[in-house]
Amino acid sequence: MAKRPKARMRRPDGPRYTRRPKPKPKQGERAPSRKPNTLRIIPVGGYEETGSRNCTVFQFGEEYLIVDIGLQWPEDDMPGVDYIIPDLNFLRGKEKQIKGVIVTHGHYDHTGGVPHWVPRLGNPPVYSSDLTCAMLAKKMEDVTPGQTLRLHPMRSRDRIKLGVFRVEFFSLSHNIPGSFGIVVETPAGKVVHTGDFKLDERAHISNRTDLEAIKRLGGQNVLALMCDSTNSSAPGTQLSESEIEKNIDLMFTQTKGRIIFATFASLLSRVQQILTLAEKYNRKVFLMGYSMRTNVEIGKSLGYIRCKESTILPWEEVSKLPSDRYLILCTGAQGEDNAALMRIANREDKNVHIERGDLVVFSSSVVPGNERAVSRLKDGLLREGASIIDSKMLDVHAGGHAKQDDIAAMINMVRPRYFIPIEGNYSNLIENKKVAMKTGIPEQRNLLADNGQVIEFHGGQGFVTNERFPIEYIFVDGLGIGDVNHIVLRDRKQLAGDGMVIVVAQIHTRTGKVGKIDIISRGLTYMENQGRFIGEMVGVVKKALKDNEPKMKPQDRDLRDKIRRELEKFIFKKTQRQPMIVPVIVES
Ligand SMILES: [Zn+2]
Repeated sequence: MAKRPKARMRRPDGPRYTRRPKPKPKQGERAPSRKPNTLRIIPVGGYEETGSRNCTVFQFGEEYLIVDIGLQWPEDDMPGVDYIIPDLNFLRGKEKQIKGVIVTHGHYDHTGGVPHWVPRLGNPPVYSSDLTCAMLAKKMEDVTPGQTLRLHPMRSRDRIKLGVFRVEFFSLSHNIPGSFGIVVETPAGKVVHTGDFKLDERAHISNRTDLEAIKRLGGQNVLALMCDSTNSSAPGTQLSESEIEKNIDLMFTQTKGRIIFATFASLLSRVQQILTLAEKYNRKVFLMGYSMRTNVEIGKSLGYIRCKESTILPWEEVSKLPSDRYLILCTGAQGEDNAALMRIANREDKNVHIERGDLVVFSSSVVPGNERAVSRLKDGLLREGASIIDSKMLDVHAGGHAKQDDIAAMINMVRPRYFIPIEGNYSNLIENKKVAMKTGIPEQRNLLADNGQVIEFHGGQGFVTNERFPIEYIFVDGLGIGDVNHIVLRDRKQLAGDGMVIVVAQIHTRTGKVGKIDIISRGLTYMENQGRFIGEMVGVVKKALKDNEPKMKPQDRDLRDKIRRELEKFIFKKTQRQPMIVPVIVES
């Protein structure tokens, strides 16, 4: 990156996420004890953000257990980045000490980093539900064809021993079937990790919380409960999946035209509801979107999805049926540009054209950051004549996370000594702590840690340490992992913001004098009719170099810096823009 002259120029913008001030010490924070028989919990990701790169590492002695390796979608100031995975570099070289990887459920924010990290960490065994295992196998094949994971499908109440750790699984309701909470037993005590959950007692049997197993924990002297904070600021209890079924049923009876049902591809319980209702009301189902087709296929093969063979038809047949005889089940409810729903709204799909009487159901919540895209999508569909129903108008979506009363119920069942809020922004963690305090857990036994900040338990006592692992953002861009860092992103932002100028200056080796100068620019200004501007830039470069004649050497780094500096000043004065300037000096 160029060093910029200070006068009147904007300071180069560092990415937002690198600009956090050093955190203040937390209440009760102290140095790690380094005593033997200490359980260390290393929060790697998901302790400062909601729905993002969840990852926790348990350490006892020299042994490690990893729980979840999720991904985070990029923010606006990360151009070109596909996603971000947790930083597990501190485990490199300790492959033999990693006893296993537990994946609580199949959502990307808990699984997305698995195909990248597990093969790089000595391919330790991975334990999860049959559904999550099948999804992980597919993801591994997509990321690195030919590479396999050592997957072990588990069921509720299964127990395994992984080195010093004993792990027990229990089913939890969430908006994907096959979700687990886990109990990690170590010589220092028992820790319960909820993963993502809600307490939906009326959910379909394949997706119901194993309340019996949780209640039993209440008598087992649990040391700490690590609990989902995603919805901790919402009072009351989370809506049951069964609650929304009657609303969706109503839509089938009232819609004369086509029904387009947009939801998350991983929400297999919702997909099942739709398929059942489609059969009840004699509509065929067409699936749109790669992840929707893949997940339905996996769900069918494992028995999470049951329907008649003739219910789901291949996409090619969509134009053969009258619109009141079928429904489309698709992804794209987040307003994604390349998704099927957006293509339909933009009249780009040759088979499906919205007509008056069609109904589009947004059966999902809007992921923060997608609001504008979703509004644009809805506008497009409404203009085409569709009616729209979303979860704000009617309960057509039940969230997957515990609200305050659910969290309190979980705490009252588990009766832990310590409470560790996880999975959320700091504000969510704080709200979760308040819930725990209301149930009677004193403030000093609520342990809030940032990503990288180690929590320790020894002799029944726990505290947040001042030891912080350097947790970086690991960016995945195409096939590259970690080769994009904040400096690359700063360059990308500059290129996107103001474009670039390449200066090719010739220097005569024999005389040491300046020769021809060419200016090429992209993304700065439309260069046609800008002959004068280019001429002025050439003049600036020439003048900058003239001062150094006649002893110029093309390899002189100072010359390039000087060109950059002078041209930056000139362009900024003329345009108030700061393109990236790339000087190239050639001999002639
Ligand atoms: Zn989840």
